[in-house]
Order: sequence, then structure tokens, then C-alpha cells
Amino acid sequence: MSVLVVGSVNADVTVRAARIPAPGETVLGEEARVSPGGKGANQAVAAALAGSSVTLCGAVGRDTFRAPALSGLTRAGVDLAGLHELDAPTGLALITVAASGENAITVASGANARVTSAHLPTDLSGFTHLLLQNELPSEVNREAARRAHAAGLTVLHNAAPARQAPMEQPDPELLAHTHHLIVNEHELAAFASGGGEALETQARALLTRGPRAVTVTLGAQGSLTVTADAVDRLPAFPVTPVDTTGAGDTFCGVLTAWLAQGHPLPTALHAAGVAAALACTRPGAQDAMPDRAEIAAALA
Ligand code: ATP
Repeated sequence: MSVLVVGSVNADVTVRAARIPAPGETVLGEEARVSPGGKGANQAVAAALAGSSVTLCGAVGRDTFRAPALSGLTRAGVDLAGLHELDAPTGLALITVAASGENAITVASGANARVTSAHLPTDLSGFTHLLLQNELPSEVNREAARRAHAAGLTVLHNAAPARQAPMEQPDPELLAHTHHLIVNEHELAAFASGGGEALETQARALLTRGPRAVTVTLGAQGSLTVTADAVDRLPAFPVTPVDTTGAGDTFCGVLTAWLAQGHPLPTALHAAGVAAALACTRPGAQDAMPDRAEIAAALA
């Protein structure tokens, strides 16, 4: 069963330095490392490595960052038939990692910001699941979800990064067409009314606005999923984390892959948590993601 990911593709340029520069300051760091990134690409790679047939719809430019941005997708066997080459720079994330482990990230959206509904595939008949994030223009997400919902696909939306409230509130139409919403605690706050309720209450309130499942990822505390008739609290799979970059993307990609392979929700959530934990045991995002055999061995 095939997964369509509509999302961002970036090259990540990472520099390690003693500290994150203050405004107006220059800090000398080590050599820059260029690696593939973007939430759309990361989640597509995670789903493909987990054994699903995955197609990515998105955009890159015709510049030197195109090849590194696509390297992980190609290696993982993601179908790039829905990838567009635009007259715009490939998306770029400029990441400074301080010795303390803190990071500061500036994203130059480039080609990602030029994606329009005209770039969406018109024939959705080969897909069972659509996976979205928040790094493409919101009207593209809205239209992709609307069409997928109408065509009978299951729509998963990882609402990350959070829209910059109050300028950009979560889109009610997108939420109405989403079957499964995945957020971290910070992103959940963008949907909440600000009453300071418990996470479960906040998540449950969203079930009245469209989704039939809401998952809140809780880092080293695991995840919480609410549906109309169940609450699933999953502790994190115990690992010694080295680098948690991409844990959320691994979770979303593997959850979608396992659902698309026909597993019930609790089994897919368990696999996603295990895979995300495994991704924390190695440095990097796409480079750190486990494949199907590693996930299966950890689950055994
Ligand atoms: P990121 O933006 O860094 O990818 P996120 O905030 O979207 O992360 P998290 O909630 O931090 O997502 O992590 C996603 C999932 O990864 C968690 O629900 C959990 O299953 C797993 N995870 C994250 N950190 C750890 C950890 N230290 N140990 C085990 N599992 C972890």
C-alpha cells in the first residue's frame, strides 16, 4: 500500500561552534557538514526505510544543493516522480550546534515556498495514505488534504513546525480533513485554547474538529494517543540518546508506513516509538533512521 508525502526538501548545512552567536556577533566554528533534510524528505525516507512504497511531492532548485538534498531520498528508494525542479534555490537549513548541544536554525525555504496546488498529483488512485507537515505553503497542504480525503486516502498531518500564532492559526479546513494529527507538546499549544488543561484533555478536544486520532510526542517520555474510545500512553523505548534530531520525523514516517502496511494503530504506534528511539542512538537525521529489519529486531 503506497504512501504519498507532500512536503519540504532541504539541504542542511551544519556548523559546530563553541556557542550560538549573539545578535551582531561572529563565532568561528568547525567545517560545515552538508546533509539531506527537510521534514517532508525526512519523513519520506523514514517511511521508505520501514518498508513502504513512498512517493514524494515537493520541489528543489537547479543549484548545487539539489544533489545533497536528494541523496537520502534516492538511497532509500523514494519515488521522485512528484518532485519538481523550479527556478528557485533549493531549500536550505543553516544550523549552528553549540558545544552545549543547543542549536539555532534558520531555514531559507527557497523552492519549498514556491510549491503550489498545481504541483500536486492529479491521480491519487495508487495511494492509501497521505502524510503532510508544515513546511510548505498552507494552501498546498489544505488542497492536498481536501483531495486526498475526497479520494478515500487516510490523511496524517504532522503539524510541525508550529505555525507562528497568532499571525497564522492552525487551519480549520486542514484539520477537518485530517484523520490522524501528530504534534509535540509545543505544537499542541498552538491548537489549544490556552486554558492550561492536561495534555490528554487538550488532545481530546481536537477530536471534535476532524481527526479521529491525535498523537502527542513527548520526547524521552514517549507518546500519548487519544481516539474516541481509547487512550494509548506509550513509554519511550529505552536507549542512550546521542542525537535526537529527526526523532519526530522518524516517528511520523514509520507510523504512516506501518499503518499503510495494514497494522492496527497500537502496533504502528509501538513501531514508530521504537524506530524514533533507535534514530536517537546515532548522529544526524536521515542517516540515523533505522530500516525495517532493525525495527523488527528491536520489536522482537
Ligand atoms: P524533533 O523535532 O527533534 O524531531 P519532536 O519534538 O518532533 O522532535 P519528540 O517528541 O522529541 O519529537 O520525539 C518523537 C518521538 O521520538 C517520541 O515520541 C519518542 O517516541 C522518541 N524519542 C524522542 N526522544 C527520545 C529519547 N531520548 N529516548 C527514546 N525515545 C525518544
